[in-house]
Amino acid sequence: MPETEIKNVPDYFGCNVFNETIMKTRLPKNVYKALVKTKQLGIALDTDIAEVIASAMKEWAIEKGATHYTHWFHPMTGVTAEKHDSFISPTPDGNVIMEFSGKELIKGEPDASSFPSGGLRATFEARGYTAWDPTSPAFVKDGSLYIPTVFCSYTGEILDKKTPLLRSMDVLSEQAVRVLRLFGNTTTTRVTTTVGPEQEYFLIDKKLYDKREDLVLTGRTLFGAKAPKGQELEDHYFGNINTRVSEYMKELDEELWKLGIYSKTKHNEAAPSQHEMAPIFTTSNVASDQNALTMEIMKKVALKHNLVCLLHEKPFAGVTGSGKHDNWSMSTNDGQNLLDPGANPKDNFQFLTFLVAVIKAVHEYSDLLRLSAASAGNDHRLGALEAPPAIISIFLGDELQTIIDALESGKMISENQDNEFVIGVEALPNFPKDTTDRNRTSPFAFTGNKFEFRMLGSADTIACTNYILNTIVAKELKGFADELENSKNFASDLNKLLVKTIKEHKQIIFNGNGYGDEWVEEAERRGLPNRVAAVDAIPHYTDEKNVAIFEEFKVLTRTEITSRTEILLENYSKIINIEALTMVDMCRKQIIPAAFAFSKQLADAMVSKHTVGVNYDAEKKIADKVSALTNGILAEVENLDEKLLGSKDVTGTEATARYYRDSVFSAMQSLRAVVDELETITPSSIWPFPTYTDLLFSVR
Ligand code: ADP
Ligand code: MG
Repeated sequence: MPETEIKNVPDYFGCNVFNETIMKTRLPKNVYKALVKTKQLGIALDTDIAEVIASAMKEWAIEKGATHYTHWFHPMTGVTAEKHDSFISPTPDGNVIMEFSGKELIKGEPDASSFPSGGLRATFEARGYTAWDPTSPAFVKDGSLYIPTVFCSYTGEILDKKTPLLRSMDVLSEQAVRVLRLFGNTTTTRVTTTVGPEQEYFLIDKKLYDKREDLVLTGRTLFGAKAPKGQELEDHYFGNINTRVSEYMKELDEELWKLGIYSKTKHNEAAPSQHEMAPIFTTSNVASDQNALTMEIMKKVALKHNLVCLLHEKPFAGVTGSGKHDNWSMSTNDGQNLLDPGANPKDNFQFLTFLVAVIKAVHEYSDLLRLSAASAGNDHRLGALEAPPAIISIFLGDELQTIIDALESGKMISENQDNEFVIGVEALPNFPKDTTDRNRTSPFAFTGNKFEFRMLGSADTIACTNYILNTIVAKELKGFADELENSKNFASDLNKLLVKTIKEHKQIIFNGNGYGDEWVEEAERRGLPNRVAAVDAIPHYTDEKNVAIFEEFKVLTRTEITSRTEILLENYSKIINIEALTMVDMCRKQIIPAAFAFSKQLADAMVSKHTVGVNYDAEKKIADKVSALTNGILAEVENLDEKLLGSKDVTGTEATARYYRDSVFSAMQSLRAVVDELETITPSSIWPFPTYTDLLFSVR
């Protein structure tokens, strides 16, 4: 499109998506209706209907320039996967026609053997299959029709992060509808979970990025002395967006909008070169697909602007890392947000019931939520510089806390002689929605009509957090429904249940400063776990109570949980291993040679000065320091090498991950410290790669 042409967003929004409007115009009425029913009620689709949809999809995709189709899935690698097949099919006369069948739409058979299976591979054949998820819209991108799918092994074990998410949504819906029935709701047939993931990222110059092996191979800087300026002036957050970044954001928005992603908010974040994009919330599985797509588009669009988009949780030490706030709520198919306090007392009881269920769920299964955000990358972020600590707690805010206190003291709910609910206060106040100056230190905050889970790292998928959240809340709703369904006196039994639940679980609520050391001590007194490192958190996946809940709701089997745990731990070790090897490589090939060059420069200067009888104390002083640091670096490199070799003697995934954390990672930290010190005294002309100042302040 020419620069001068003004583009009208509604005209092109979703133009590359096989969305409701397209389906309505292109599908026969009965087929469209069947599909809508599938989407709303989460029920399976007939194969003959799939045939018609496939054909319409193909026609539409070809008009959009597509020649291929791909089943698009989310294996356990954490990134999306795709294998493209063209639509062509040979004809007897040597030509081709474009074909796409219902079968091809519904099912694909990628080789599963090269995707992580966490030990499942031994028990199943290499073959896996992908199955269409009709609840997430197909789209055209780069000449292919993308079909969102789930990914399973042939023997039925699931190999992706999406299947459990879909299952958890069903499970939550079933239990939430049961609870709604208790409140006399007879109309709601489905409750969906909604998610709005805010995505943080860094933008740095491509030319500088290319010069840093650590960024290229690991996505983060493994070395780098702090720049003289960081974020202390607080001048970047919500600051004026410079032209280059603003052009990037503009194109990003356009690309996302074409793909039907409701990109809504964009702003500069706390650290220099850090930014954020927030979409308008949507159904969990669609939000999860769209977030994966957003991350990909963010990176691709950046390259067009000679920028690199870093999605790592902590690309730079000393400034804020990047998170992904997972805003979560539950909505009925008749449009009611269950975490939005209602206008009348009955709705308020219902709101409080769902709220208390979430409180109980988060308290009982905080270990699951914690591990959903556990990764090598996020370890650098949690508890550091404006990121929540590794302790899970809930922030309710003063207004809601007052209500909860009143409820606990038994002053809230009663039933009058007409069997009507009576609430202690007439109606709940309209709680302030989250604003930027609200308590941002809590990992799990009530923000007016939703909860915001702030622990998740920027590089992670939101799927895991959300299938955990949905399942644990479903569990508590089930408990409530089981207890109250046969109640003769609903209001008073509900009151008793809520009071009891609050009493038992209120220690998870913390409205104070989550960044302070006092909270760490207080949390310990309250018995709330503080699993600082990913390796402390991940193994709890297989705790009996956690296996039990996933099995009870058929979201994951014990085998699948074990395999997921293995994959997470293996992945952790692999990442640290790559980072350590990269450090060694950079030291041997770039940093130590640079130190030698600097030493030589100083020695040459000393010799020259000596010849002409000029004092060379300054050179000598620096040369001694450089030599000492070079020795230090060499010693640390050798130590790190040795630690890496030592990993071969450790057996077992958990023990290996622990070894990487305790031995390899700490050796990396010591090495970095010496290198960073050398950097501060080395001239820019000699330092072998761009510094923090170059990287963080160059995008203008
Ligand atoms: P913040 O102050 O944290 O930046 P915003 O008001 O910008 O919060 O909202 C953050 C995200 O929360 C957005 O993606 C928004 O769409 C999402 N959100 C709002 N309501 C809901 C809801 N009911 N369910 C899920 N997400 C929601
Ligand atoms: Mg937020």
